[in-house]
Amino acid sequence: MGDARLERLDGIPAFETKFGDQALMDTAERLSVLQINVGKRCNLACKHCHVEAGPNRTEEMSREVMEACLRLLEENPFATVDITGGAPELNPHFRWLVGECAKGCAHVIVRTNLVILLEEGYTDLPEFYRDHRVNVVCSLPHYTAKNTDRMRGEQVFRRSIEAMKRLNEVGYGQEPELVLDLVYNPGGAFLPPSQTAMEAEYKEHLLREYGVSFSHLFTITNNPIGRFGAFLERSGNLEDYMYRLYGAFNASTLESMMCRFQVSVGWDGRLYNCDFNQAADLPMADGATIFDWTGKPMAKQRIRFGKHCYACTAGQGSSCGGATEGV
Ligand code: SF4
Ligand code: SF4
Repeated sequence: MGDARLERLDGIPAFETKFGDQALMDTAERLSVLQINVGKRCNLACKHCHVEAGPNRTEEMSREVMEACLRLLEENPFATVDITGGAPELNPHFRWLVGECAKGCAHVIVRTNLVILLEEGYTDLPEFYRDHRVNVVCSLPHYTAKNTDRMRGEQVFRRSIEAMKRLNEVGYGQEPELVLDLVYNPGGAFLPPSQTAMEAEYKEHLLREYGVSFSHLFTITNNPIGRFGAFLERSGNLEDYMYRLYGAFNASTLESMMCRFQVSVGWDGRLYNCDFNQAADLPMADGATIFDWTGKPMAKQRIRFGKHCYACTAGQGSSCGGATEGV
């Protein structure tokens, strides 16, 4: 059972009732993505943040938990390691973790909020990312200052563009192997537009107005949990938004839900099917931690769902890698 506010909405059936093929309720035999959430501390406190991250959060992944993640990576051929937070850069072991992951995996993603790259002590990160061939994924909710600052805070857009320029300078978004992806979030209780069309708009606008470029745009549907869920509830929009997600349910997105292919490790080592389940406090059914998984063969898991899952299956689908269909 997920977020209690959502589960109480009787007009919306349990997510599990939407599966014709029960096999899609399980993870794949072999997982391809190891997602590591290194903590909830962040230099920003965005309105749409499902993690409810911010400067006052203290939850932080220890070196011991990271070492267990690396053991799991050594024992299993994950195609991707996806490091996230909060602002993952704020974890004191962050650079060590990235370096170790890059030794064991060809595709390491770091999710950054861009602004951190201008803070004292972090300005050399563009070079660090380049040297480790990190795929940098940056949240930039919109290509206009007004819409981005409304969600993330004053001057965030201007500083994000400055950080993008630094990344472009070291080759990101310019050289094919230095991948710089942006993430768009809707500015309210609506679904994202077509990812393909939005990517073209972002590229054209950011290049023309600011001379910056990037590789791909991911459109992500706001999940009605965490700070965004609380905002929807306060503004009386929670129910409408949930009906919008439910009404846009697209069965063909079930196969590519990201939870089928990944394990998501929480800051304290607990295991989840995805980052949204972390935020909804919905750990894997057996309550396993990363320490239970090391030294053993990986096995299929029944995924834990809640009504927040309708955000992943609405319209073109949504995942940490953007739309899951028609792109
Ligand atoms: S959305 Fe990202 S940048 Fe904003 S508060 Fe949450 S973790 Fe930090
Ligand atoms: S929120 Fe999305 S990714 Fe997570 S368990 Fe639900 S459907 Fe899967």
